[in-house]
Amino acid sequence: MNRAEMLERALAHQEPWDVVVIGGGATGVGVALDAAARGYDVLLLEQSDFGKGTSSRSTKLVHGGVRYLEQGNVSLVMEALKERGLLRQNAPHLVGDLAFVVPSYEWWEAPFYGVGLKVYNLLSGRYGFGTSEILSKEETLARLPTIQTEGLRGGVVYYDGQFDDTRLLVNMATTAAEQGATLLNYAPAEALTRDAHGFVDGVVARDLEGGREIRAAAHVVINAGGPFCDAVRRLADPGLAPLVAPSQGIHLVFPGSVLPGGAAIMVPHTSDGRVMFAIPWHGHTVVGTTDTPIEEASLEPRPLDEEIDFVLETASRYLRRPLTRADVLSVFVGIRPLVRSGDAKSTAALSRDHLIHIDPTGLITVTGGKWTTWRSMAEHCVNTAAMLEGLPEKPCPTRNLNIHGFHRQAARFGSLAVYGSDALHIQDLVRAEPALGARLHPALPTCGAEVVWAARFEMARTVEDALARRTRALFLNARAAIEMAPETARLLARELGRDEAWQGAQVSAFRELASGYVVS
Ligand SMILES: Cc1cc2nc3c(=O)[nH]c(=O)nc-3n(C[C@H](O)[C@H](O)[C@H](O)COP(=O)(O)OP(=O)(O)OC[C@H]3O[C@@H](n4cnc5c(N)ncnc54)[C@H](O)[C@@H]3O)c2cc1C
Repeated sequence: MNRAEMLERALAHQEPWDVVVIGGGATGVGVALDAAARGYDVLLLEQSDFGKGTSSRSTKLVHGGVRYLEQGNVSLVMEALKERGLLRQNAPHLVGDLAFVVPSYEWWEAPFYGVGLKVYNLLSGRYGFGTSEILSKEETLARLPTIQTEGLRGGVVYYDGQFDDTRLLVNMATTAAEQGATLLNYAPAEALTRDAHGFVDGVVARDLEGGREIRAAAHVVINAGGPFCDAVRRLADPGLAPLVAPSQGIHLVFPGSVLPGGAAIMVPHTSDGRVMFAIPWHGHTVVGTTDTPIEEASLEPRPLDEEIDFVLETASRYLRRPLTRADVLSVFVGIRPLVRSGDAKSTAALSRDHLIHIDPTGLITVTGGKWTTWRSMAEHCVNTAAMLEGLPEKPCPTRNLNIHGFHRQAARFGSLAVYGSDALHIQDLVRAEPALGARLHPALPTCGAEVVWAARFEMARTVEDALARRTRALFLNARAAIEMAPETARLLARELGRDEAWQGAQVSAFRELASGYVVS
């Protein structure tokens, strides 16, 4: 993917696009990929970087959602479990199995959760990831060596999927580009145009780098603005009532030593009635999440002090050594675009199902759902769009479409495993210039070649793009990421033809941003 080429294509396109997608998160990139793979002419516009919104800030689970089972939402769980299986089939370099242990401290917990997790297994049918089992105290300790032993009776183990959200997103964007889609980051949709009958017939966007206006006429416009989807809808009709309620969830990241056994902990009921996970991820431990209703969505949501305290307290209850603020390497916050329902008492109870909504202007909004279900959401959305706009009928091929980087044995690439088959090209960069193989920081495996790769082929434009979403340095260790910024800026400047002033400005901007990921 090359941004200059993408921009040129977007500016030169004279005919109306079949589909213009607004929003470059899991939902929008999924829709662009689906539509392009069917053979439609597609443009995707992202106001910031791909994945800047919620899609970089998930718990990193590809899952059916044990909690929705408890709520009796069997169809949602079955759909997600099937999608979990398809995603592992189509992107094995990015989706892996993970053992989750539910520790039990009360006599009834192991049999109770044991039965529930058996049902979870059964619902996954041929897409199963492993059989759940009831564990003795010793077996629980073997999988979770740091778990609180006082009162521990045993546990239940079950299996689910885990992934790297933005690596999948970038690989999905590349797949969409390979299927012919044009995708542009740093290009906000600023206005929607309407025809003589009042129907939306195009988008006016801006290239934030060069300042040029992009006019994109379209047969259909799809709004995948996530938590910002109501603002996008109001570009066509300012008087519309909102569809989504924003709610934020935080994650704290700790050293890998917090969970040394390779298994994750799942707490089905925290004191506020939520599920909490502690999961091993990229050699670290991610713990979350909360659910706090917020007034308005922002691109850089900040954690509340009480949310940090809540996660620390809840996790500490299950660990022999309590966690403190000093242990936190990074904190990240994501916003759920929950579909509004009139009588829901809390955001945790609002629908996780996706919604496809058509405004009187013909603008289609697709929102809600989960990362895990991006493929089925996209299929449903493109089917709706094609029917609504009378586009020629074309079947959806994504069930069996490999995602870019597809590789069954990617683990052999070590720290480059998440790149799948692209790891070979990154190794070539290092062979041609060995200095690029050096780590950018002793605390993380990220090397200079990854930054070069991100700039050359993955449309990374800033230090933040490289350290937050092409690599995950900012999410894993914010202080280390800040120290990596100057060398990252130097490598990017070399690739993108930028001067020293640009490097300085990039480093300052990144320091400012990353300070919001540091907990003190
Ligand atoms: C804390 C948390 C944990 C989660 N964990 C999981 C999990 O483990 N597994 C799972 O399956 N799901 C999980 N989810 C759900 C999942 O992350 C979301 O459903 C998914 O990421 C939503 O993607 P999206 O594309 O709809 O929204 P976003 O990722 O927010 O994308 C919307 C994009 O639209 C862009 N945009 C907005 N306005 C404009 C405009 N005018 N012009 C151009 N672009 C615009 C934004 O910049 C943004 O990038 C989690 C959610 C949260 C909040």
